[in-house]
Amino acid sequence: MKYDYLIVGAGLYGAVFAYEAKKAGKTCLVIDKRAHIAGNIYCENIEDINVHKYGAHIFHTSNKEVWDYINQFAEFNHYINSPVAVYKDELYNLPFNMNTFSKLWNIRTPEEAKEIIDKQRAEYGVEDPKNLEEQALSLAGKDVYEKLIKEYTEKQWGRPCRELPAFIIKRLPFRFIYDNNYFNDRYQGIPVGGYTKIVEKMLEGIDVKLNTDYFEFIKENPDIADKTLFTGMIDEFYGYKLGTLQYRTVRFETEVLDCENYQGNAVVNYTSHEVPFTRIIEHKHFEFGKQPKTVISREYSSEWKPGIEPYYPINNDENNELFAKYRELADKEEKVIFGGRLGNYKYYDMDKVIEAALEMVKTEL
Ligand code: UDP
Repeated sequence: MKYDYLIVGAGLYGAVFAYEAKKAGKTCLVIDKRAHIAGNIYCENIEDINVHKYGAHIFHTSNKEVWDYINQFAEFNHYINSPVAVYKDELYNLPFNMNTFSKLWNIRTPEEAKEIIDKQRAEYGVEDPKNLEEQALSLAGKDVYEKLIKEYTEKQWGRPCRELPAFIIKRLPFRFIYDNNYFNDRYQGIPVGGYTKIVEKMLEGIDVKLNTDYFEFIKENPDIADKTLFTGMIDEFYGYKLGTLQYRTVRFETEVLDCENYQGNAVVNYTSHEVPFTRIIEHKHFEFGKQPKTVISREYSSEWKPGIEPYYPINNDENNELFAKYRELADKEEKVIFGGRLGNYKYYDMDKVIEAALEMVKTEL
């Protein structure tokens, strides 16, 4: 049987595309090398708790169209992400806001906070920040940088902050009000019942083959589809012939604990390099769970190597230049399109993945 589209990767990008393609009357086969659908938003039920197996996913967007789109597939709860950060024996609210500043300097008013930060900015900041360190110092000053940013970032990315792009830190809000909401977006929440169900719904009535490696599958089935949507690593697609793009990977140590509430919050970041993991996720708190037990995951960050799962593209100049060369090859393809975090080598959030997939749908279908 021949399909209109072979979709490689049953993650969010592939699933949105497959859903829309089916609606437009196209036939699709979705394959994934893993044993389950939903890519990195996959949730596994443990002790009646939806465990975010590949790291915490909090849906947030300011795009009403995307919000309405995802709400077709699930109901969202009113979860607001408000992580806390532990630095040595101190605990701070995130993102950087009056609660953080008040704890750091024992002050109360925005005016007092601004005075301290302005002084530190003047001393350590620069006019035109060229890397993450300069960006952080120019935005938040030395104390925030040293206690809450520097070591955490270096653990997460495995590189000095001076060698990382400034945009990574621009993701985080910085505000002079008492507001611990980690995002500035208009819409936010966790799908009731977890993320896997969303992808299940998107893929309803579509052929899906799991445990299927694209590179082997296509050798045996070269004529399976007119076109391919590839959401894996673009450099791997081309056999790394122009060089290898760098990625970060994360590893989770997940434990079931015989207590109802371990850390009192879904996300606790450990910002000092003395602690080897970056954060602990307590999954039940994403859905206000009251189960008798709890499930926690310690998250460890490391450099990606072949054979393990890539999570984050490392969008520094060197990698972006290499990606641009792969992109040139990709643009010449008539039968293959690329999408998703790995196919586009972009640090996309879920809403941006949906936006990009719907854009692709418009041009492609
Ligand atoms: N970050 C930080 N300290 C924190 C949390 C985040 O310095 O306690 C910085 C860090 O550089 C990180 C970036 O902010 O890479 C983005 O963090 P976010 O939580 O958005 O990353 P993700 O959830 O995508 O891993």
